[in-house]
Amino acid sequence: MERKVRVRFAPSPTGPLHIGGVRTALYNYLFARRNGGDMILRIEDTDSQRFVPGAEDYINESLAWLGIKIDEGVREGGAYGPYKQSERRDIYRSHVKMLLDAGKAYLAFDTPEELEAARAATPNFQYDASTRMGMRNSLALPAEEVQRLLEEGAKYVVRFRIEPGRDVTVDDMLRGPVTINSRVLDDKVLYKSADDLPTYHLANIVDDHLMEVTHVIRGEEWLPSAPLHVLLYEAFGWADTMPRFVHLPLLLKPDGKGKLSKRDGDRLGFPVFPLEWHDPKSGAISSGYRESGYLPEAVINFLALLGWNPGDDTEIMSMDRLIELFSFDHCSRSGAKFDFEKGKWFNHKYLQEKSDDELAQMFKPVMAANGCDPAAFDDSYIARAVGMVKSRINFVSDLWAQARFFFVEPESYDAKAVKKRWSEEMPRIMSELIEVLKGLDDFSSAAAEPVVLGWIADKGYHLGNVMNAFRLTVVGECKGPHMFDITELLGCEETVRRIQKGIDSIKLPQ
Ligand code: GLU
Repeated sequence: MERKVRVRFAPSPTGPLHIGGVRTALYNYLFARRNGGDMILRIEDTDSQRFVPGAEDYINESLAWLGIKIDEGVREGGAYGPYKQSERRDIYRSHVKMLLDAGKAYLAFDTPEELEAARAATPNFQYDASTRMGMRNSLALPAEEVQRLLEEGAKYVVRFRIEPGRDVTVDDMLRGPVTINSRVLDDKVLYKSADDLPTYHLANIVDDHLMEVTHVIRGEEWLPSAPLHVLLYEAFGWADTMPRFVHLPLLLKPDGKGKLSKRDGDRLGFPVFPLEWHDPKSGAISSGYRESGYLPEAVINFLALLGWNPGDDTEIMSMDRLIELFSFDHCSRSGAKFDFEKGKWFNHKYLQEKSDDELAQMFKPVMAANGCDPAAFDDSYIARAVGMVKSRINFVSDLWAQARFFFVEPESYDAKAVKKRWSEEMPRIMSELIEVLKGLDDFSSAAAEPVVLGWIADKGYHLGNVMNAFRLTVVGECKGPHMFDITELLGCEETVRRIQKGIDSIKLPQ
């Protein structure tokens, strides 16, 4: 019988979610939605040493911001809970017992010192079939000794009993079958009595089975664990419901080989976390995509294409479209270079999709942060201003540099432009321009432009010099959108005031 697709994203709350982890979550989500399945968020917090407060909330908030919707999880609930591993101790305990009773696992009492000594004595020591009988465990020790140790409350771990000489095949949907010999595996620790917690391997397999996970989609760094997971599935007798595996290729440094790291982000100036992260221990702050001005839909689109393509060169795709198109057939097996410039390009593209009114609302906090009260302007004025410059921005915060002059008159004038465009006769010509503008009945761009250009032609003035001087007085520099669109929005009075201020205050270059 076809099973309903069920996938899980299973982060350990050991710090902020890395952008590579976000991509893993996204591919799980796209695959689940594409196939009408469920997406589980399971918190794998069995390593109490590495637990970081706030990390779980951070994961939830990140996924919510990005629009990756969870069907079952700690917050969402669901029929297969609890979804936090530290709340499933009983389940793990009983499953450890199942393996012990079946002779597929054993107790090991070796102290850290004894393990250290064994490693020192034997090069490349591995705790396995060839060495275990020389160690202190329930296979090697007499039963009474084991009993005595247990009664004394000696600390132990439970190890998986792996026998050599078996070919173990991991059926990876991206890589095809990957086969290794069980000889290379060690008798992995599955459980520690000291904290009454399972290790990642046991908890992960038991939960994937009990939660009826059909596809394990995770980062390539987990591929080496997969043969062990296959053997565990078999040891429990669950081989016929073994999930299919997908080990996603790494995200690579933008400028070379090797895994993308936080240091690359610091070095090249881009975030590697979805949201800003405040380290609870050191107080250090790491930047996030959200706080850096990225739109969630741009981040999603960007990440989706790091390791997957729709089969053609389409680049702009909404979440819904990604869901329609997603499949592992078009996933790459090699690492994807993290091209953060492309990330900015996506943000630019998605900002262009916003209406001017939406952008205006997003821009208001930026105005306020720059000491300009948005309430002093009509919403429609702000919208028209941002509409004129939005094609030049990658981030909403860039709007300030581009549109500032719509809200504050120039306080100084670009020295280079003054040198190039201002001359002794310019104050007189600008005074004439004031009269021309004042004479207009219609100050719209379409009406003003031919009149002003006609005046320049009649007088035989140099078009470039006059228009640039005009722009200098109004904008403060020789940049910006079409001049008559600017003046239309500023209005006649403000335009004239600025030209007059320029005449009065621009000094002739020495
Ligand atoms: N807890 C593991 C992690 O932090 C899960 C790996 C897996 O998906 O099996 O990524």
